[in-house]
Amino acid sequence: MNGLDLLGPEQRGLFIGGSWREAEAGKRLDVVDPADGSVLTDVADGSVADAVEALDAAVAAQASWATTPPRERGEILRRAFELVTERADAFAHLMSLEMGKTVAEARGEVTYGAEFFRWYAEEAVRIHGRWMQAPGGGSRLLTIKKPVGPCLFITPWNFPLAMGTRKIGPAIAAGCTMVVKPASQTPLTMLALAAVLEEAGLPGGVLNVVTTSHTGEFSETLQADDRLRKVSFTGSTGVGKVLVRQSADQLQRLSMELGGNAPFLVFEDADVDAAVDGAMIAKMRNMGEACTAANRFLVHSSVAQEFADKLGKRMGGLTVGRGQDDGVDVGPLIDERAVETVSQLVTDAVHDGARVVCGGQAPDGPGYFYAPTVLLDVPVDAEINVQEIFGPVAPISTFEDEADAIRMANDTEYGLASYVYTRDLSRTIRLAEALEFGMVGVNTGLISNPAAPFGGVKSSGFGREGGFEGIEEYLETTYVALPAG
Ligand code: NAD
Repeated sequence: MNGLDLLGPEQRGLFIGGSWREAEAGKRLDVVDPADGSVLTDVADGSVADAVEALDAAVAAQASWATTPPRERGEILRRAFELVTERADAFAHLMSLEMGKTVAEARGEVTYGAEFFRWYAEEAVRIHGRWMQAPGGGSRLLTIKKPVGPCLFITPWNFPLAMGTRKIGPAIAAGCTMVVKPASQTPLTMLALAAVLEEAGLPGGVLNVVTTSHTGEFSETLQADDRLRKVSFTGSTGVGKVLVRQSADQLQRLSMELGGNAPFLVFEDADVDAAVDGAMIAKMRNMGEACTAANRFLVHSSVAQEFADKLGKRMGGLTVGRGQDDGVDVGPLIDERAVETVSQLVTDAVHDGARVVCGGQAPDGPGYFYAPTVLLDVPVDAEINVQEIFGPVAPISTFEDEADAIRMANDTEYGLASYVYTRDLSRTIRLAEALEFGMVGVNTGLISNPAAPFGGVKSSGFGREGGFEGIEEYLETTYVALPAG
């Protein structure tokens, strides 16, 4: 099984109004294997007219979907959870092929991604308002929750399944319809997911998927349409800002899951071996191509050399190769540009005085690989500490005390994930309160959990996905004033 068999030929098309079809202009879009640059297959390249048709279908389905009983909406999600779980191996292979991550990692994403369907299957039946007496007596206050309406979802290539289910799950549960545009590098997983939802009994028009290379025109046209009520985007901060601007005329509701620059703080009282274990996860999950990836290792000067040596040994021992091959720990990056960006950041850091503990270069092609790299003595203001690396590189800088560490950690435009290693409980509380990030991992390198509210502050965006909070992004509140009777 190589995963491509999850999709029949018609399912490499557009999914609109419950039917699979070709793009209006008959255009196709190549999907490339990042391990060698070859073309895996192709999918429909939807036009703006196709996008509008997808919105038409979402709008047509909205009223009946909003009144479909919550239990029914939940059961569809539950069936989809079961189907994805049954086909976990095929989904993992498909994702590995189009995105590059190892099959083992992709299996982890299938478990994580499918769980959003199970979690929101359970939440669908717990949408409720409240009834209260007005504080001054007399009237009664009633609130009703209603679905926001037709949504547009735009997802990135790094987690092709989970970034979709985090939006689709709560939207289905809340009674919203949607148009989804997956990243053009990784459209296959989303198409396979649409096929699963169709099989699970989702009515036509609730979910519409348009694969397209015309990204700018696509979002501009749909956001100018007053029938679209909500945009949820996961991707880079630059594109997020464009979508926020485009939402102004129609005042669409927004959820923005944008870039990160996570600090990974290791204090002098930390268990250094545990910190290295956590660092391997926080840095190397998805080859470093994660918004939650530890981007800056800020380590107390008294333990920095020990931490660097131990991390270097682990990183240097990883096997780089094709994600589907046995024994491979680290797959390719998404494309050539990603390798160039990472190479440049490392070259500049070394020029600024960083020492290479391991790695430090891209192996010869084919494929878009970069060697797992650890850098020590990286100047705090080096570009590699300022921007998202999105690759398997761990730059280590040092601090002298807690105030210094907090100041350095917060000195970024981003505010998504942060990680802290310390054995001091009082310090943990101080840090959790002082760090300007949406998420703080304490003595762990893995924070993502479908039951937890995932999201950021500052240039990392706003809104939360997962947890009890995630469904609120898809609900409006109507307040009803009633006399006392
Ligand atoms: P990207 O912003 O380049 O692309 C994301 C999506 O937006 C893709 O589907 C792309 O085709 C689309 N797009 C690009 N321009 C568009 C436009 N003008 N209108 C409509 N759609 C447009 O990001 P990427 O390279 O795919 O993903 C990596 C980025 O995503 C990183 O910055 C990463 O931190 C971020 N990310 C954030 C989270 C989070 O939850 N905060 C999760 C995963 C990834």
